[in-house]
Amino acid sequence: MIYADNAATTRMSSTAMEAMLPYMRERFGNPSSLYGEGQKAAEALWSARERIAACIGALPQEIYFTSGGSEADNQAILSAAHSGERKGKKHVISTAFEHHAVLHTLQKLEKEGFIVELLPVHENGMVYPEQVAEAVREDTCLVTIMYANNEIGSVLPVTEIGAVCREKKVPFHTDAVQAVGHLPVHVKEQNIDFLSLSAHKFHGPKGIGALYARRGMALESLIAGGAQERGKRAGTENVPAVMGMAAALEEACRDRQKKQERLIRLRTRLIEGLSQIPHSVLNGDADKRLPGNVNFCFEGIEGESLLLLLDDEGICASSGSACTSGSLAPSHVLLAIGRSHEIAHGSLRLSLDADNTEEEVEQILKIVPKAVERLRNLSPLWKEKISGKLRFIL
Ligand SMILES: *Cc1c(COP(=O)(O)O)cnc(C)c1O
Repeated sequence: MIYADNAATTRMSSTAMEAMLPYMRERFGNPSSLYGEGQKAAEALWSARERIAACIGALPQEIYFTSGGSEADNQAILSAAHSGERKGKKHVISTAFEHHAVLHTLQKLEKEGFIVELLPVHENGMVYPEQVAEAVREDTCLVTIMYANNEIGSVLPVTEIGAVCREKKVPFHTDAVQAVGHLPVHVKEQNIDFLSLSAHKFHGPKGIGALYARRGMALESLIAGGAQERGKRAGTENVPAVMGMAAALEEACRDRQKKQERLIRLRTRLIEGLSQIPHSVLNGDADKRLPGNVNFCFEGIEGESLLLLLDDEGICASSGSACTSGSLAPSHVLLAIGRSHEIAHGSLRLSLDADNTEEEVEQILKIVPKAVERLRNLSPLWKEKISGKLRFIL
């Protein structure tokens, strides 16, 4: 099996697994219990909070554990919006290519009477700070813009966007689920007020993540119940998962630069090779992209069919995101960067990890062009393009 879908999820590292085991076997106490065993769990939880905070330049009291990236996105956006509403501000700025955890939360806000403005994305997958500066109004209560896009891998200038927001005194949330552990992140230096992260995107366990909320930012609880997470997230803490997340994050941050060089080499080779396929286009910026992300559109094919052929060859890849696959709608991300419906349907995302090998990349480069050709040969539309009855788009 060649696993090239690390933007969907990653293999848990053995460091993370080993950090979890003691908290399942012996130290299984409830951190809210007053006896020693419970207090040991509470201490472990706090030390994990300190370690996670240190990795992103935050204070431990600014970290709230959640069930993952989606919950962190929901909580940050709803909190900032409702806090703004209390001051009469109901305008929210975001982008057209956010993750659905953000976009669907914004749709909820629209139903509550908020005005949501989605900034257009440039063809290279970029959103610029000037766009944010121009869009901010008197009644803007939140800017929420992702750090790196999960489909096309473009890395946004969040530091500069954060500076604009700080200057205009508007809270800034960033969905950094694809960035944390893969790119440098420092919430203080980058003027970030809220940040979402998720452990399973950096070799930690699934179902655990965190929300960073800067000191003084209002947070509302999405789940009613006990007073865990300083009253902002009820429910007994998932101590083993938190320990796994802390270990995975420290490991990811420690090895980041070493892995990045290797990944960029693999990515460059893959992009070079796939560019040889006629009537294809790379999606996202060539340089400002996640080290492991490769995303192409191939004219004349269906991404889903391509995935099935690749699966037969043992390659795990993706077309669009895990959330849109399974539905027939083309990716909102590809539409946002201006790809036509027809082209957007023929997309392939390969997201590499540092333990992918050069041989695997060469294997992918043997299989993908053949699979694309096979699908094109089956397509009546393609025959019309070849014969000149229909025009090529790419
Ligand atoms: C995976 C992902 C999420 C969702 O995180 P979960 O932990 O799976 O809920 C949110 N945003 C982005 C950009 C992602 O890649």
